[in-house]
Amino acid sequence: MKTDQYTHPDYYAMDDLYSDEHKLVRDAARAWVKKEVSPIIDDCYEKAIFPKHLIPGLGEIGAFGPYIPEEYGGPGLDQISYGIIMQELERCDSGLRSTASVQSSLVMYPIWKYGSEEHRTKFLPKLASGEFVGCFGLTEPDFGSNPGGMLTNYKEDGDHVILNGAKMWISNAPFADIAVVWAKNEEGRIHGIIVERGMEGFSTPEMHGKLSLRASSTGELIFDNVRVPKSNILPGKSGLGAPLGCLDSARYGIAWGALGAAMDCYDQALRYSKERIQFDVPIGSFQLIQKKLAEMITEITKAQLLTFRLGQLRNDGKATTGQISMAKRNNVEIALNIAREARQIHGGMGITSEYSMMRHMANLESVVTYEGTHDIHLLITGMDVTGIPAFARDLPK
Ligand SMILES: Cc1cc2nc3c(=O)[nH]c(=O)nc-3n(C[C@H](O)[C@H](O)[C@H](O)COP(=O)(O)OP(=O)(O)OC[C@H]3O[C@@H](n4cnc5c(N)ncnc54)[C@H](O)[C@@H]3O)c2cc1C
Repeated sequence: MKTDQYTHPDYYAMDDLYSDEHKLVRDAARAWVKKEVSPIIDDCYEKAIFPKHLIPGLGEIGAFGPYIPEEYGGPGLDQISYGIIMQELERCDSGLRSTASVQSSLVMYPIWKYGSEEHRTKFLPKLASGEFVGCFGLTEPDFGSNPGGMLTNYKEDGDHVILNGAKMWISNAPFADIAVVWAKNEEGRIHGIIVERGMEGFSTPEMHGKLSLRASSTGELIFDNVRVPKSNILPGKSGLGAPLGCLDSARYGIAWGALGAAMDCYDQALRYSKERIQFDVPIGSFQLIQKKLAEMITEITKAQLLTFRLGQLRNDGKATTGQISMAKRNNVEIALNIAREARQIHGGMGITSEYSMMRHMANLESVVTYEGTHDIHLLITGMDVTGIPAFARDLPK
């Protein structure tokens, strides 16, 4: 069995900026990943299965709702700790991080921020420990980048609502205990509603054939006249801004996570460049290999600084959607480029599961698309700096 030799690159002494608690959180997450996940991840990826037995362990290292207060069963950590945990998970596999991101930012976050006190006490402790797994239903077959057009809707029926519609591309759906679903009421306003497994008319078929994020389970959510108690509607916020607030939190975690994948690829490429001999010398002595490594560590260092500063802003409650969007877009892009370059440094060996770059590269094709595509984030930055939205246009009739 191959040994996980990961050590994080830290060219600008970022560790000096971390508190003792940050380092403890990181060491615990890294040790758990090396022991429990690294030995099985390639097999899970090849077989396209999410390793469900890891869920309690994810709860133990604080990966589910790291920032959720202790009174609701969470670890009560800061936003930088949240980022660090996502980074440690994704440096192993984006699918593993996706499961934790969805649970933390797309299920626990809306329950914490928009839910009633009853929702918080009923669901958050079980989600924090991993006793419950949740999923987040926003995307529909015909509404991805434009979720405001969603068709999923509900009508009032006494103390219940009747929910109809379908969601697709939903991470964790096939085995989730609860789904935070975004649906329109009779006035066309978007509300979050907690749908529980076992409710009649609610099904979660698995989607197959993914060539990316294979160690994460993805499915549909089908609502066929599902009777949901009115009390399951999240009362605290409605409108498209409610799901977008969750996406801010998740995209922040992705920015840290994707950087983790980049750091893992660089770490392996650097080691390989010193070990692999061609023309009687280590390939790391060739200028063209050094160019690749120098550019990788430069991009990683810039992204580390960007991401850490974003964490500080988020801790102060000051990070804007535009700032988060920029970090998500930048970090996923550099991670994809670094995965490709690291794969090249490994020559033929780079395409095997002996090394993780190829898996990272394939995974990152999902990460660059979900939670706002690369180009949608470009448009968010464009709108932020010009004040002019360029998302929609009228075609000549
Ligand atoms: C593995 C995986 C897991 C996912 N998990 C979840 C989940 O848990 N919950 C959930 O709700 N969703 C989830 N998604 C869905 C994801 O968020 C969507 O795939 C994403 O938002 C893009 O939507 P789409 O696939 O419909 O692409 P589309 O919106 O159809 O976009 C297609 C292309 O058109 C471009 N485009 C669209 N609009 C514009 C525009 N205005 N200007 C310029 N270009 C534009 C896009 O950038 C893209 O290149 C997941 C997706 C994947 C792949």
